Amino acid sequence: MQKVYLDHAATTPLFPQAVEAMTEFLRDHYGNPSSLHSFGREAKVFLEQARADVAALINVSPDNVFLTSGGTEADNIAILGSAAITGKKHIITSATEHHAVLDTCEYLRKQGFELCILPVDEYGAVLPQVLRDALREDTLLVSVMHANNEVGTVNPVRELAQLAHEAGALFHTDAVQSVGKIEVDAVKLGVDMLTYSSHKINGPKGVGALYVRDGLCLQRQVHGGGQERKLRSGTENLSGIVGFGVAAALTRAGWREEAERLRGLRDLFVSEALRTIPAGRLNGHPQERLPHNANLSFDYIEGEALLLHLDMLGIAASSGSACSSGSLSPSHVLQAMGLSDNWLHSAIRFSLGHGVDEQQMRYVLSVLQDKVASLRKASPFYIGNA
Ligand code: PLP
Repeated sequence: MQKVYLDHAATTPLFPQAVEAMTEFLRDHYGNPSSLHSFGREAKVFLEQARADVAALINVSPDNVFLTSGGTEADNIAILGSAAITGKKHIITSATEHHAVLDTCEYLRKQGFELCILPVDEYGAVLPQVLRDALREDTLLVSVMHANNEVGTVNPVRELAQLAHEAGALFHTDAVQSVGKIEVDAVKLGVDMLTYSSHKINGPKGVGALYVRDGLCLQRQVHGGGQERKLRSGTENLSGIVGFGVAAALTRAGWREEAERLRGLRDLFVSEALRTIPAGRLNGHPQERLPHNANLSFDYIEGEALLLHLDMLGIAASSGSACSSGSLSPSHVLQAMGLSDNWLHSAIRFSLGHGVDEQQMRYVLSVLQDKVASLRKASPFYIGNA
């Protein structure tokens, strides 16, 4: 049976070069980069080379990059670490954030901070005017994601960061989904902090990074040996970091071409799906969206049922937020966008990536046409059956 992996927003396969570099590193190098002897010094060279590659991917200095255990930890450090340093009490985030941001902000609310959750428009975007109206003198932090993990909508982060700064607030963006797919230059975006993650760019899981601009000193969240310039203690996951470095370097070299290739395949898939399958829609912004994301709803279809049928034919997609798969509660992102129940429950996300080609997408299209039709045939509500 043909297998097609279309869940790259959840995680990606490793670049073979990352596997090789990690394998070699695990076999030949075991020094602790904090040790002063030659074994430690050698490990430190690997650590700093990887940091340089990870930093170059978002066009910043390695001195501004702190390596973490992933996007979740980087989001936590950014939010908790800045909440502890200003004395202000008001935090702003958006309704479509990943739970790594939403739940951390919610935790702070329970600790006595005031939390404002910005609504999004019908496409899932945070409008600058909405942020402008929510900012206050005592706003300490605005955290708004660069691109959404479910619908791929890209937020106007540069404009949002500027507004936050004009009001005297810090600005953090979760760029886990956008790095490697669209241009992400932390300095051009004008953000104070930016989160990204290795396993979304064909690197290993359990590694991520937080960019922190010059002059911003966050409160550490993990105490111990003082690694990562005291911000994040703990002996480094060096083999993972080496893999992240290789993935970052390869992504930097090839992302533009790959993004254009994926955009072409995605556009073909979406237009053909909507042309040939009645009563369907594309969720998220029609233009301002990640090039590899297609989030589609088909009326009279249960998203999970469709997902299982696709899985039986070798196709991997996702029906909700990648990281909360297994849960059948409706997506908070689609809810925030105001989707009616029929579109909400029938949404399915296809996220393309390396290795996906036109032949595979045409196979998915034919299976989709077939399965949507057969599921609708079994539905007592589908008007086409009348
Ligand atoms: N933020 C976003 C937007 C994500 O999509 C994810 C993972 O899906 C994360 C954060 C969490 O990153 P990690 O899996 O590296 O902890």
